[in-house]
Amino acid sequence: MTASPPLPDLAALYRAQLERIARATEGQGRAPDSVRLIAVSKYHPADAIRALYGLGQRDFGENYVQELTQKAELLADLPDLRWHLIGHLQSNKARAIAPWIHCVQTVASAKLALELGRRARERRPETLGPLEVLLEVNVGREPQKAGLLPEELGAVLEAVDSEPRLALRGLMAIPPIAEDPEGSRPAFAELASLRERWGGAARLPELSMGMSHDVEVAIAEGATMVRVGTALFGERPR
Ligand SMILES: *Cc1c(COP(=O)(O)O)cnc(C)c1O
Repeated sequence: MTASPPLPDLAALYRAQLERIARATEGQGRAPDSVRLIAVSKYHPADAIRALYGLGQRDFGENYVQELTQKAELLADLPDLRWHLIGHLQSNKARAIAPWIHCVQTVASAKLALELGRRARERRPETLGPLEVLLEVNVGREPQKAGLLPEELGAVLEAVDSEPRLALRGLMAIPPIAEDPEGSRPAFAELASLRERWGGAARLPELSMGMSHDVEVAIAEGATMVRVGTALFGERPR
């Protein structure tokens, strides 16, 4: 959020990403509106978010609580903008984020689910509705990575269901880093199969997977949200 390069041609980049999603859904025989673009705005200035909002974008993803709340305050005049937290959340930050956030995509423990539920009951304006939650699964079982292991899913799902102001929406994953977009496919397929095992699309309608380099593979494996940063805003400053 410090000195940033000149804004790229956001309108052209935005159009290109929407067309990319449309082509990929069409190629899979899926409805174009079955995949939602989450614009990942971390490190990019609030002005860039405002510009993209002006072009019609409504869902924005941020990784850090402080950056998200600062931008949310700057952009509070855009009431239907939806903030998604896509980075790690410590339980002690749940309180700060509850008044702003639409969807926490990175819930990975029962403890965090219960804390978010409590803050959503205490601090969340009624007008925002229930706080949407995705559970982040560490499908690659990478020791350095956040997210819960597949065998922990049942307990965390139960914790979310026990909180009246949380709305369980689905699963999210960040696959192991791969040069080739096809390298992400096994992780995406695993997330989709975990959804089937735990109630299917009726219980878990959203699958958040796919980033700038592997959007097509994610959509082929059933993504309903793709999280795109670089391909939309250009390289991140810093
Ligand atoms: C930064 C980030 C993205 C966007 O990555 P790009 O490669 O810039 O599209 C998506 N998801 C998560 C969890 C991220 O941290």
